[in-house]
Amino acid sequence: MKYIPTNRIMRLLTISYILLSLLMACSDGELEQGEEAMTEERGVENGERTENEEAALPSGIQKLLSAYPDFWDRADQEALWTQDQTKFVYDDGIPHKSYDSLLNYPDLEDQMSMPYPKGRTYLPLEPNEDPGRVRYEPLFTKMYGATKEAVRKNLVEIRWLPSTLNQSLLISKVNGVAEKLQAISDTLDKLPHLHKYLQKPGGTFNWRKIAGTDRLSMHSFGVTIDINVKYSHYWRWATQKNPLLYQNEIPLEIVEIFEHYGFIWGGKWYHYDTMHFEYRPELL
Ligand SMILES: [Zn+2]
Repeated sequence: MKYIPTNRIMRLLTISYILLSLLMACSDGELEQGEEAMTEERGVENGERTENEEAALPSGIQKLLSAYPDFWDRADQEALWTQDQTKFVYDDGIPHKSYDSLLNYPDLEDQMSMPYPKGRTYLPLEPNEDPGRVRYEPLFTKMYGATKEAVRKNLVEIRWLPSTLNQSLLISKVNGVAEKLQAISDTLDKLPHLHKYLQKPGGTFNWRKIAGTDRLSMHSFGVTIDINVKYSHYWRWATQKNPLLYQNEIPLEIVEIFEHYGFIWGGKWYHYDTMHFEYRPELL
């Protein structure tokens, strides 16, 4: 073989490397990344994202952003960051989870995956149609407190049905939940035909696991109320042969008032819990 000087080999290798890099830069992936980097730079320069960039985010991320505006700082296609720069990855990349895995090992995307039917039309419910029962617990421990004591520090008193019952309830002030439940209470206060369903409320704050599971109940976070147990149905308490045969006595007029203020209703779950309302504005 003809002798080639080492510096010439090096030159050839360098030229090949440059040509290869140029070719790769022309592939779609590199171009997209380049565009993204430019977009981010523009975002930083302007100090805010443009409307088009917001619209390009997955709809679940957009809903989380607008439901909890004081909690988040920003988001991109894959994650959301809280005000203190804690990163929440949206999608864990695990597809086709079983129903049990959705409940026990969800990500934020799973939490947003089942649409909640706002308003009066929601029946019949399909098996395991439980919009809101899939909860990514780290989001709620971060927002409302990770221990009983931490949650308790955020609780304030509201007056339930002030002109009649005037009962004191403890609710989290985080995300303005206490103010919203007070507004619900004031609205319901003026509707006496509904009062029998609202007396003797079953409870608000209670640091505990959901019955029969290892997951924290939303009652642990002080953003939930159970109304009068006497007129309520809970699938675990059902004495009928088929406990999942739907039952409800709670008027939808009550449900609509709660939904207006960002609370979802457990009566719209296949695993029904008709006394239960919880603050989940990302689903409304
Ligand atoms: Zn409840």
